[in-house]
Amino acid sequence: MALTPMMVQYFEIKETCTDCILFFRLGDFYEMFFTDAELAAKELELVLTGRDCGLEKRAPMCGIPYHAANTYVGRLIAKGYKVAICEQVEDPAVAKGIVKRDIIKIITPGTYTDSGFLEESKNNYVMSIYIDKKTNFCGLCFCDVSTGEFSCTDTKLSLVNILDEISKFSPKEIIVSEDISGDMLSAIKERFNVSYSSYPNDYFITKDYTLIKNQFNNFCEITLSEELLRSITGLLSYIMDTQRNSLSHIDTIEYYDILDYVSLDANSRRNLELTETLRDKTKKGSLLWVLDRTNTAMGARRLRKWLDQPLINKALIEERLEVVSELKSNISSHEDLKDVLTDIYDIERLVGKISSKNVNAKELISLKNSIEKIPKIKLILAGLNSKLMRKIYLGLDDLKDIYDTLNKSIIENPAISIKEGNIIKEGLNTEVDELRLAKASGKEWIATLENDEKGITGIRSLKVGYNRVFGYYIEITKANIPLIPEGRYIRKQTLSNAERYITPELKEMEEKILGAEEKLVNLEYEVFTGIREEIEKHVERMKNTAQLISEIDCLSSLATIALENNYTKPEINTKGIFNIVGGRHPVVEKMMPTNTFIENDTYMDTVDNQLLLITGPNMAGKSTYMRQVALITIMAQLGSFVPCASADISICDKIFTRIGASDDLAAGKSTFMVEMWEVSNILQNATNRSLVLLDEVGRGTSTYDGLSIAWSVIEYICKNLSLRSKTLFATHYHELTKLEGMIKGVKNYSVAVKKIENEIVFIRKIVPGGADKSYGIEVAKLAGLPKDVITRASEILEVLENLNNTEIDLIDKKTSSKKTNNKNEKKLVETAVKEAAIAYEPNIVTDEVIQINFTDIEKDNILNEIKNINILNLTPMDGFNKLYELVNRAKLL
Ligand code: ATP
Repeated sequence: MALTPMMVQYFEIKETCTDCILFFRLGDFYEMFFTDAELAAKELELVLTGRDCGLEKRAPMCGIPYHAANTYVGRLIAKGYKVAICEQVEDPAVAKGIVKRDIIKIITPGTYTDSGFLEESKNNYVMSIYIDKKTNFCGLCFCDVSTGEFSCTDTKLSLVNILDEISKFSPKEIIVSEDISGDMLSAIKERFNVSYSSYPNDYFITKDYTLIKNQFNNFCEITLSEELLRSITGLLSYIMDTQRNSLSHIDTIEYYDILDYVSLDANSRRNLELTETLRDKTKKGSLLWVLDRTNTAMGARRLRKWLDQPLINKALIEERLEVVSELKSNISSHEDLKDVLTDIYDIERLVGKISSKNVNAKELISLKNSIEKIPKIKLILAGLNSKLMRKIYLGLDDLKDIYDTLNKSIIENPAISIKEGNIIKEGLNTEVDELRLAKASGKEWIATLENDEKGITGIRSLKVGYNRVFGYYIEITKANIPLIPEGRYIRKQTLSNAERYITPELKEMEEKILGAEEKLVNLEYEVFTGIREEIEKHVERMKNTAQLISEIDCLSSLATIALENNYTKPEINTKGIFNIVGGRHPVVEKMMPTNTFIENDTYMDTVDNQLLLITGPNMAGKSTYMRQVALITIMAQLGSFVPCASADISICDKIFTRIGASDDLAAGKSTFMVEMWEVSNILQNATNRSLVLLDEVGRGTSTYDGLSIAWSVIEYICKNLSLRSKTLFATHYHELTKLEGMIKGVKNYSVAVKKIENEIVFIRKIVPGGADKSYGIEVAKLAGLPKDVITRASEILEVLENLNNTEIDLIDKKTSSKKTNNKNEKKLVETAVKEAAIAYEPNIVTDEVIQINFTDIEKDNILNEIKNINILNLTPMDGFNKLYELVNRAKLL
């Protein structure tokens, strides 16, 4: 049996897009076949049917009406699939044989542009990574097809750098060159929910890079590495392959240096809850939630970007701060500015739609209305003096010519569809006006016809109506039919209680009206596309204006929050000094009743205050305090005022955090393993300009292992000259407070609590000096642990604390004298455990109480080992060694 010709065509097309679900246009439906149909039926909850395809078994099939395609495509894209749209590309009426079909667009998660599905306040990036194993270098680039933004960078091949850039842009899709290692790919897939496709190296190369030269206006202005040129080529090829449309809005390429922005790894971004909360991944409760008071979608996207890329350049930070300061104090101008911004539509995405020919007349009116506001913005900016605002004012093109074009050509409230007429303004095109007149006079003729016929027939209920099937008709109820003069009307349609008639004159007029209407619709469409093409010539100017407006919006948002939340302008230094007076956590304070958040100071420098060791009870506020310092730093570096009485912030190149759980747990690594991996990453990559937050390093293992690791990490950070990062180190190991004075740079702080009659009261104040204890048991009590457990825990704690004090002295001596005294240490532990065990009088009734004596276990072990020695197989030396080991172990019992 052979496939039907249509199925042959289907398979030919499917062959070209095997990684996509193919939407195959058949009449008014998009049909899917075979595995695509099975998959789509499951994912979209469609009924799976079948269709004869020439083979013995029918082809599995499911379909959707073409006009509802957007919704279904949106759902598939959200699930990470790619969809290829295959249309009939010739008129079925004139086609000989099978209608020609072709893929007109491939929709993928990263190149999706449907504004109905994209989040307004988020960019939708597709990324490409080109790796050259020989040079050990790679090129990375990102494009948001909906706005035309295209940025790129290159770096030495390092997993950390690649992961950092991915977490900065959060692309929805990544294309990679074949040289990417399996480990790197797994690391990306484990950490990010992103679709990816791998392409051969050839895909990333074009002769003379003509592709790039033809795409970007500013290409000749920048010199780029070979790896980067290839990465750009790959991404452009991919976008072209998928969009199959004009990409005139992707006209400028922006190169950035990774070192231009604060480096923050994915974990730190997540732990600091910069754009979403850890718990439920919502914006509410994140730093962005506090910062974002933008009034436009473009502004919201840019602010997110500013937060994702805090600056390192002092002058640029200060430029932004100067504007915030000016707007904050110039309340009336700022209020006016906010009012105007509220009326500005998403020009950036509109420009994308213009370029891809997807824009409708209503959207062009939104564009016009937005452009109309630019002179008002310019007027407000003219009264401002800050350097950056002056620059924006001078660069802001008011797009007056585009406004005029739109204003004279498109009616105020046009139809949504561009193929139904009702778009073009009167006076723009004579032919449009004439056809409209013809249509209107015909309609007027029909309106008078009704009155005339009522008069002639005397039938007061006579109506002239219209429907798509029969056209215009005269309707007369059955009761009035005898009143119709003989031969006046021709019967056309019978209804249950009326008859419908026509007259030759009515049909003639109908033809005139419909003819004029059809011509008008076609002509209006033609004129509209002409206007769209005219506007498309100015894509670059519009994009530029959109970018400046988005910057104004961000600065305005920062001024709003500065004023409303009582923030202050930070001083920015490069001397390694952090001096925050009365600092607050920007998010936590917003979640609490006004003025209830307790302010705290922070002082760090490069000499004696390099590592702040923070001890204090659970729940006292250590994590909040540490995060607050990082958030204030990030806010300052993105150009925002900060929550405190005053702040002098030293510019950080990198911010690291080792706080809380990590997503890697899901990737099958243990908590402790992940913790150590992160600490190792910090120790290898932090510099003396970095800010490091370490929360309870070492807690994931036994006390002694954990304490030793924490201790040596502190030493490493403070003593290693290439590191010496400003560090906040929260810990429950009080033993570490002894390090102040022993290691230069370490300073003890603690979160104070009051103890009132066995109850602790948190006062959330950070004070110099170490905490005396953790109050963990008191916190456990507050959390409602059973009384017996609390009492018993206090007894054990007392014994262990006595031991601990002696222990730490031992370690102290050991590290200074380098001598060990294993035997003594072990004895101390033994004694403590025994004492604790003796004091144990459980109130819980159990069937059997089993006490494990570790000395007995070791005795048994030794005895068994002696029994199992095969003397005949031992050399004299082995025998001696074994005996020596057993004697030593026995001595410890
Ligand atoms: P643990 O050691 O158990 O992790 P912690 O010392 O890190 O605890 P946090 O989680 O920082 O404690 O704070 C506990 C709670 O205390 C926070 O959720 C917050 O509501 C409140 N809190 C923290 N700092 C302050 C402050 N400065 N003013 C008011 N409330 C605060």
